[in-house]
Amino acid sequence: MDRQEKIRILQDVIQIQSPNGNEEIVALYYKNLLEAYGIDARIIPYSDGRANLVAEIHGQDQGKILAVSGHMDVVDAGNADLWDFPPYAAEIHDGLIYGRGTTDMKAGLTALIIAMIELKASDEPFKGTVRLLATVGEEVGMMRAEQLTQMGFTQDITGMLIAEPTKPFYHTKHKGSIQYQVIAHGRAAHSSTPDKGINAILLINEFINKTNAKMAAATKLAYNDTLGATLNVFTMIAGGNQINSVPEATILSGNARTVPEVGNDVVIGIFNEAIDSINAKGQGSLALNILQNNQFADGANDSDLVASILAVDPDAENRGLSAATDGAIFTDVDNDFDFVIYGPGDMADAHTINEAIGVDEYLEFIARYGAIYRSYLNE
Ligand SMILES: [Zn+2]
Repeated sequence: MDRQEKIRILQDVIQIQSPNGNEEIVALYYKNLLEAYGIDARIIPYSDGRANLVAEIHGQDQGKILAVSGHMDVVDAGNADLWDFPPYAAEIHDGLIYGRGTTDMKAGLTALIIAMIELKASDEPFKGTVRLLATVGEEVGMMRAEQLTQMGFTQDITGMLIAEPTKPFYHTKHKGSIQYQVIAHGRAAHSSTPDKGINAILLINEFINKTNAKMAAATKLAYNDTLGATLNVFTMIAGGNQINSVPEATILSGNARTVPEVGNDVVIGIFNEAIDSINAKGQGSLALNILQNNQFADGANDSDLVASILAVDPDAENRGLSAATDGAIFTDVDNDFDFVIYGPGDMADAHTINEAIGVDEYLEFIARYGAIYRSYLNE
């Protein structure tokens, strides 16, 4: 495939708007592209307008199975007037393709797919399988990778490469994430007689203090060399509705970022312990509402897949990633496979105004992915 066609394909994909959904059109585009090059692709519908895409290429002999993955949705473009170039036009200026989803992560996903097409078309034999798992909805909760996981697509793989932007690093591990609310119910009363009420703000205050103390104790000696520590941040609070009333209800929201040493279950256990001890007093009640519970990913640092990446990019460094990816879901199976996140673009440019990817960087990654497929599968 020539340079111009590779660039045009990425521009086409950026021009298909898929903010927080609408991935089916992206999936259909990729399916048509793959089939034009003789690769069967299967659309797996998720819901109205939303679909995953699975495709495979096979070498002459059986061997390893490398899953390659990216999500097809993007975050909202925000105020288009603030962009220097329209967010879905995919205009090229000074060697950069501008547009929502360029970095996160249509350049990476498209590069994975074109590298599959080129490997299939090349005369050099290879062993094993490359399996594309293009997903919906990573940007809105990551629940959708569950569908492909439940269908067994990661049950038999030996490795997984996710093309999220990682420049200049690669990641074998990322933190988990728990988003939650704690809902406090007390009893309203006039502020002149607070003893007649139960102050929901104070219930939350007690929860915060107990949780902070327990989290500090749990995380003190449990540090992950790659990821750092488990962190918990209280991010929103809403309570009370009148300045001279004891508040009946308060809602606290928070986000914990977990590492294997203090995992999701431990953190949720700490929340529940604090809640139970407060509820046991019989003065008001607290309830925990988990909105999102994504596991950490914990790939080996010395896997064959890491070796293949270092063979094409010897200066790349392994760093822990704070953000969660589809890998959290995909790796949550009884199959211990090589796992690496490695892709074009800098995560710091994701979700920003004027998101862009370097044309040369995108093309370079097509070549790198092709070399990684070969070296990983033929080893
Ligand atoms: Zn992403």
